[in-house]
Amino acid sequence: MEFRDLHVQYNNIKENIHREIEEVLDSSHFIGGEKVSDLEAQLAEYVGVKHCVGCANGTDALQLALMVWEVGPGDAVFVPDFTFFSSGEVVSAVGATPVFVDIDLSTFNMNPAKLEEAISAILDEGKLQPRVVVAVDLFGLPADYPAIKGICEKYDLLLLEDGAQGFGGAIAGQRACSFGDISTTSFFPAKPLGCYGDGGAIFTDNDEWDNLLRSFAIHGKGDCRYDNVRVGMNSRLDAIQAGVLLAKLPVFISEELESVNRVAALYSDALSNCDLVLPTVPEGYFSSWAQYTVLLPDGVSRQDVQEALAEQGIPTMVYYPKPMHDQLAFENACEVPVACADTSYACERVLSLPLSPYLTDREVLHVCDHLKTIFEKSLRSRRN
Ligand SMILES: *Cc1c(COP(=O)(O)O)cnc(C)c1O
Repeated sequence: MEFRDLHVQYNNIKENIHREIEEVLDSSHFIGGEKVSDLEAQLAEYVGVKHCVGCANGTDALQLALMVWEVGPGDAVFVPDFTFFSSGEVVSAVGATPVFVDIDLSTFNMNPAKLEEAISAILDEGKLQPRVVVAVDLFGLPADYPAIKGICEKYDLLLLEDGAQGFGGAIAGQRACSFGDISTTSFFPAKPLGCYGDGGAIFTDNDEWDNLLRSFAIHGKGDCRYDNVRVGMNSRLDAIQAGVLLAKLPVFISEELESVNRVAALYSDALSNCDLVLPTVPEGYFSSWAQYTVLLPDGVSRQDVQEALAEQGIPTMVYYPKPMHDQLAFENACEVPVACADTSYACERVLSLPLSPYLTDREVLHVCDHLKTIFEKSLRSRRN
């Protein structure tokens, strides 16, 4: 068993993938061109925003948004303390200061009450100018946008949705990657919608930002290619990856989202009567389940559980073992105005189980049976 199996999907849609790649090879149009603009149009329509800009990866996508907004030294950017490194890395990369905010343990997403406390603390201190909130759709679940948007409006902050793990999710029918003033996603192979290399996309309804994003992504180009009007970067989605995504998007929409929700529901059902905290999806929310992550109870050794599962051929992962503010890279280069106790707790206790839309019911039950056995044994030995 693999942690995220990408073979079954490939075998199922092999012909379409090969045809898309062959068309790119035959056209010799490797950068930009019709595949990329087709994909951008389809993604924008699916998400429900006016513009989609393909780029090289999900990290660049975030950084490009901050560049368009001219975020830099002296600016405070609020980022959840529990996320993949990129969400905060880009803030430092543009010279601004990441301010880490605790999560809500029931969703693993940014806690809006803690966000507001952090904004107030930064304002009171008066050293940094609050500019942007980066809300992350962790593990496939959209962040609490109804609350976070209200806070952004109240304090006049821009909202950047990091939908790298969230593509395909929704709140009350509104799709992920449409909640931010600018939203981003990643097509890293293991993400909900992945390509066969690196890739990313940026979404916005704003015409001016769409133009600026396209300029910043291609060396700050002006009206023509060799006219450079600003310092940007080189961040393009290549045509082969766009072709792979064009082959994958239809099955992602028609089958995979539903199927991964079947797998998650089966996990939740089979694990319901043991002492684990299971992931929940709030009323009205839809998750694209980038991960199925449980919380182990105190006293159970996560390492022992992982090792025992590995002996049965069941891989597990720890997303994420360290709060962002504890990363060496942010030493003396971030702010944590409000303690992040729930992030620290999550980092100690989380365990992500194998997941893909193509796991069979039998495979899921196999994981659950072993997890329960190992777990009960570990609880018994703890009591003795
Ligand atoms: C994967 C990921 C990114 C970065 O995407 P890349 O395409 O790998 O650069 C950013 N944010 C989050 C939350 C991610 O999971």
